[in-house]
Amino acid sequence: MTVVSLGLPVPGRGGVTPPRDPARPQTSALLDSHGRVATDLRISLTDRCNLRCTYCMPAEGLDWLPTSDLLTRAELARLIRIAVTDLGVRELRFTGGEPLLRGDLAGIIADAAALRPRPEISLTTNGLGLVRKAKALRAAGLDRVNVSLDTVRPELFHQITRRDRLADVLAGMRAAADAGLTPVKVNAVLMRGINDDHAPELLQFCLEHGYELRIIEQMPLDAQHGWERSEMVTAEEILASLRTAYALTPDSEARGAAPAERWLVDGGPATVGVIASVTRPFCGDCDRTRLTADGQVRSCLFSTGETDLRDLLRSDAGDDAIAQRWQDAMWAKLPGHGINDPGFLQPTRPMSAIGG
Ligand code: SAM
Ligand code: SF4
Repeated sequence: MTVVSLGLPVPGRGGVTPPRDPARPQTSALLDSHGRVATDLRISLTDRCNLRCTYCMPAEGLDWLPTSDLLTRAELARLIRIAVTDLGVRELRFTGGEPLLRGDLAGIIADAAALRPRPEISLTTNGLGLVRKAKALRAAGLDRVNVSLDTVRPELFHQITRRDRLADVLAGMRAAADAGLTPVKVNAVLMRGINDDHAPELLQFCLEHGYELRIIEQMPLDAQHGWERSEMVTAEEILASLRTAYALTPDSEARGAAPAERWLVDGGPATVGVIASVTRPFCGDCDRTRLTADGQVRSCLFSTGETDLRDLLRSDAGDDAIAQRWQDAMWAKLPGHGINDPGFLQPTRPMSAIGG
């Protein structure tokens, strides 16, 4: 695997770096004004997808970003190097859209894995194509995967994703486990009247295969803007449903900045996680910074503003100017996502374009 070598910092040659906000302390970390430090970088590699999950995008897809707008492998390598070696990022998660659609994914991972300190590298994917790629991604340096799976019933999978591909996803998960991309985590979203009673059978499937299930509350991030609070299956309902079949006890392991509240299943060691982004927000512990496929920093999934790094990358700006713009963007991070505030405004970009 050829690694794109961007080891040497790029000094600024032109342009003027605006003065740093005087209130922001002199630190290289991605600190915000509420005292949180971002060390976990989520990178969307593309907004395109080969499924059409009903809670994510319409049947006809979306107006995809032109390829020339997407960050190239070399641009990604540079931004990731700045994040890891200058800004204190320790974990990387590649997502999308569907990140496996990037033909250069193994190279992007290899570039990141060559950095020192070596970041933890994970991938969130729908699993299509993983059966062919799992080994090469592992060899490139990928540590773990999260595969999205909302049901193990083939007809319902077809109805939810609008594609008849359950068998491919299941094969992809097995291939990931065989390649050592463990623990394989399974992300599920429940929808009222569709798969809201599937939590126990999803958990049974995961227990049988040694996967870790995490059920996510549906968030107002769909392209169609069709989310309704009353339709959302809450964490409380998810837990009640799981408890019809399993005994759940709180996992005493420290949660830290992890979004999932974890429970031991029937005394452990297996666990199940519930991500209650809406009903039990964890914004106070958030350690995330996000990069869209077209090079915009977002301090939160729900930000309504973005900060452009791509224009700096494509000018002659030095690493210091890029780092400072990233630090300024994170300093302005709001204390919470505001979903539960009366004036909440859904971001214009959907989850698939931001990177979930
Ligand atoms: N295509 C990949 C996949 O599905 O895993 C990566 C991108 S997808 C946007 C990332 C995760 O976001 C998936 O687990 C998906 O189920 C979840 N997701 C998408 N829309 C959501 C929504 N409105 N609320 C909660 N989770 C959502
Ligand atoms: Fe694609 Fe993932 Fe959205 Fe489903 S959730 S449509 S797999 S981006």
